[in-house]
Amino acid sequence: SLQGKTAVITGSNSGIGLGIARELARAGANVVLNSFTGRPQDHALADTIASEFGVRASYIKADMSIGRECRDLIEAAAACDILVNNAGIQHVAPIDTFPPETWDAIIAINLNSVFHTTAAALPGMRAAGWGRVINIASAHGLTASPFKSAYVAAKHGVVGMTKAVALETAQEPITCNAVCPGYVLTPLVEAQIPDTMAEYDMDRETVIREVMLARQPSRQFATVEQLGGTVAFLCSPAAEQITGTTLSVDGGWTAM
Ligand code: NAD
Repeated sequence: SLQGKTAVITGSNSGIGLGIARELARAGANVVLNSFTGRPQDHALADTIASEFGVRASYIKADMSIGRECRDLIEAAAACDILVNNAGIQHVAPIDTFPPETWDAIIAINLNSVFHTTAAALPGMRAAGWGRVINIASAHGLTASPFKSAYVAAKHGVVGMTKAVALETAQEPITCNAVCPGYVLTPLVEAQIPDTMAEYDMDRETVIREVMLARQPSRQFATVEQLGGTVAFLCSPAAEQITGTTLSVDGGWTAM
């Protein structure tokens, strides 16, 4: 059980981040949710988790594209025994027409935020004598696709930083790993299905099977519950000697 531990999950008002927060709460951890929005419904998500799982849950607004706010998030959290770096955005365009400001935003949110939150969280983990840093990278942290240069660069960077942090903490009761999901049917991915149906003149099932999951040999989406369970495993005693590595949850994508 993770009772008594506090987890901070960046970008956790939807999708994978929310799924991870729920599974860590199910395992007994107190959770801190985050996004840059700060709406009443974001706070309500924390209240729901608190009552459903009987843990402490709060929501803190912070923009992960701004280094100072990344560090402030960790300061504002009551504690940070488990840091899950999950916030991320995507943009698809060829590199020669890739908008420079979008490149900067992807590098800031998907890569730089991991530097700032990790730097801010490690002293507290050392003081507490236990810590877990879990970075949500991607199959695109290990392989590439065309038109995703910023995302692929950022996610490869996250995998590299994961290894460096693991070496810096190797002799302490702290581990640092990266989880690499394949396709997960989050609201973000769901929103792409209608357009893709129109573009290919296919029905929903064919789009999912032949277009979206063409690179995922299982032909199934990974779920946010499975991602949450993977993160909970990395926080368990069985994972104490797992550090500096990647754990793929991708239906065989990176085996090809
Ligand atoms: P999502 O859009 O549902 O969630 C993204 C989260 O990031 C949201 O909670 C959003 O509020 C937050 N966020 C975005 N910009 C932010 C900012 N500036 N500051 C704070 N929070 C911000 O998408 P998702 O699919 O759940 O993605 C979560 C993570 O998983 C990302 O890092 C993504 O790259 C990674 N991932 C997703 C998939 C997939 O298929 N969905 C696959 C591999 C990796």
